[in-house]
Amino acid sequence: MPILAPDHWFRRITDIPAEFFVKQNIRLIALDVDNTLTTHDNPVPAEGTEQWLEKMRDAGLTLVILSNNNAPRVEPFAEKLGLSYAAKAAKPLPFGLIRTCREHGISLKECAIIGDQIYTDILCGNLAPGALSVLVTLMEPEDKPFFRLKRKLEQPVLCSFKKRHSDRVHF
Ligand SMILES: [Mg+2]
Repeated sequence: MPILAPDHWFRRITDIPAEFFVKQNIRLIALDVDNTLTTHDNPVPAEGTEQWLEKMRDAGLTLVILSNNNAPRVEPFAEKLGLSYAAKAAKPLPFGLIRTCREHGISLKECAIIGDQIYTDILCGNLAPGALSVLVTLMEPEDKPFFRLKRKLEQPVLCSFKKRHSDRVHF
């Protein structure tokens, strides 16, 4: 299932060094919020997130939030971190990512999308030709039934990815 496979998998976003992006000529990073920058619906960024964002900025990377959650959730969070944002991004559809890149004058080959969900974040990146898709392990399981189902459906994809592409699993 290559369309569902991430290009790389890290445990936490804060484990990804800036050189990882710079080496691959990435100039823009589209960031998921829930379970990527903090736990689901938590208004406070996870420990180390702000320092990590600062390191990415220092490396010259443009950072943008791309979230499927609504503006009342995303806006105050993005503001706190000094990031621009797109809410209700409709991932896995790639149009939000494509629009964001176009707005910043960046080609899809120069962008990475980071998120915790195979069927939204990773699929979105893989549907945008050339974009780099980076999976992070969810921080805390959600309790809604829809999420529980999605997490169950992720398991076979993650197991096969771990087996076949251990070189792209960074933990
Ligand atoms: Mg998420």
